[in-house]
Amino acid sequence: MNNITDNKHISYSQFRIWNTCRRQWWMTYVDKLGGYEANIYGTFGQTVHEVIQYQIKNGRKHQKGEFKSWFDMIYKQNKEQDDRLSISDNQLAEWSEIGEKHIEAFNKRKDLLRGDFIESEYSLYTPINRVSSIHFKGFIDLLYLTPDGDRLTIYDIKTSSRGWGPAEKSKGYEQLALYAYYLRSQTKTKKPIRVGFIIFNRKKPNDVDATLTEHFELGYKASALRLTQFVQSVYDREGNPIADKIYANPSNQNCRFCPYRNDGQCEQSYFLRSNNN
Ligand code: SF4
Repeated sequence: MNNITDNKHISYSQFRIWNTCRRQWWMTYVDKLGGYEANIYGTFGQTVHEVIQYQIKNGRKHQKGEFKSWFDMIYKQNKEQDDRLSISDNQLAEWSEIGEKHIEAFNKRKDLLRGDFIESEYSLYTPINRVSSIHFKGFIDLLYLTPDGDRLTIYDIKTSSRGWGPAEKSKGYEQLALYAYYLRSQTKTKKPIRVGFIIFNRKKPNDVDATLTEHFELGYKASALRLTQFVQSVYDREGNPIADKIYANPSNQNCRFCPYRNDGQCEQSYFLRSNNN
């Protein structure tokens, strides 16, 4: 039986997985079958994050050609954690070229970041509500304050092969609304908090897109309420899982990045089914 020590924090990704496929959530967070599978997309995205955060934090300009050594280093680190990860030399070279273009394009668009830099990888760890011992955990990619000190901005960096359409943005805003809500709860700030994405599209590596939105407080609260309802529906007060009706929700979209899609642990995987047809 799991106890509260195992489950005392909830991240946005746990909430997202629950909303995508409850079977995947159960296997990952209750059966603890190892829900993370490293891949080239995640490794590349992590590299873009780290290069940008490092140069902003250290006030250091990116040197042309540096991306490849970052990508190489992060690939080796991730491979130590997950031996299934495999990126060929050709892929390393090809994706590094794309990454290099992203960083160059980003550095030409300094206007995307408005205000004064406060912190990167800002750590959130705060109770999900006044009575809960379960905490919300997350990391804010970049946190800025306007020069007049009136407003905070949370920036989230996203990499994708298609850019970010309305569906992706709507899911992403739920994450950022939670970050804004729990940033306020953790810091007790009264300042308005704006949220935004900086989007890198691998198909258009020379472009960087930014979408900034100002949610009303109500929007943040609605997301926090949904998260709280999720936590209360799956864990008791001691943090033991109580969820029932754990059903799978297979589809090409849902199963594509699921670690259980091909290994036989989920007999309802869209990919096992399509292979059998
Ligand atoms: S393979 Fe598909 S149906 Fe099965 S757990 Fe994963 S996402 Fe759900």
